[in-house]
Amino acid sequence: MAKLLEGKPVAEKIKEAIRLSVQNLKQAPVLASILVGNNLGAASYVSSQEKTAASLGIAYRLYKLNDNITENVLIDLINKLNADKTVNGIIVQTPLGPQMDYRKISEVISAQKDAEGMHPLNMGHVIFGNNRAATCTASAVMELLNSTGIDLCGKETVVVGSSEIVGKPLALLLLERLATVTICHIGTSKAGKLKEHVRKADLLISAVGQAGIINGEWIKKGAIVVDVGINRANGKIVGDVGFQAAEKRASYITPVPGGVGPLTVVILMRNLVEAAKLQQ
Ligand code: NAD
Repeated sequence: MAKLLEGKPVAEKIKEAIRLSVQNLKQAPVLASILVGNNLGAASYVSSQEKTAASLGIAYRLYKLNDNITENVLIDLINKLNADKTVNGIIVQTPLGPQMDYRKISEVISAQKDAEGMHPLNMGHVIFGNNRAATCTASAVMELLNSTGIDLCGKETVVVGSSEIVGKPLALLLLERLATVTICHIGTSKAGKLKEHVRKADLLISAVGQAGIINGEWIKKGAIVVDVGINRANGKIVGDVGFQAAEKRASYITPVPGGVGPLTVVILMRNLVEAAKLQQ
């Protein structure tokens, strides 16, 4: 039976380090958060960000906008926050409406205030091996893996999902650790090859957003399984991986909820505090 790879104990250690950094800053750091519309998932992420910020001595300023605003209204607000010297970091919650281009919005946020790590300049830093502002979820997965103490060098690693916020930056962070990385995505499934790749993985990370897309029986014996997916199925929150079968085969597996999620929000705060240090 696999050991559970839980996010909370790792998150608590990182929180201790963040508290110390906050104490050493001249002023409490300020995170500006922009929420457009009433998406339930985004609203629940905002409330968890508010609680985490409060527990760390970080000021959280929430800006709520109607979901029918134009892209220019959002861009104007971001530009004001970019220019506001009292604001250290900015996050725009997703999803955004169809009238918004998230890539464009990610570029408007100043790279120095980019708490999420989505600005192309910060993405570029990750390619150069500077991970200070890597995306929160990708960094959260790496922190979980670090907590196992397992050497990733040469590990047959399969990342399922190639989004800009999770799969792509995560693959780069894993490469930096000399893992042998395969990235699977919708095309892999269309070609009928997902199972074949998953079966080879000593380290499997899934970030798709479809309950049960990874059959637990496909997991290689002794593999490490990190499930980033958050899905609703039969009134419950579940990941992408069929947990019951997978936990019998894996050596480590993340629970969903309780794995990557609790860490992501803490890394957001760490990115903010690092940005504040550079600014102050
Ligand atoms: P996304 O929709 O941007 O990307 C999904 C990826 O999955 C794409 O690369 C796509 O090609 C791939 N995909 C889609 N269908 C597939 C299939 N049939 N076979 C193989 N690959 C397929 O999603 P995202 O924003 O990267 O989020 C992915 C999941 O991770 C979601 O469930 C999201 O809620 C979750 N998430 C969790 C956290 C956390 O902190 N735990 C943070 C961010 C995202």
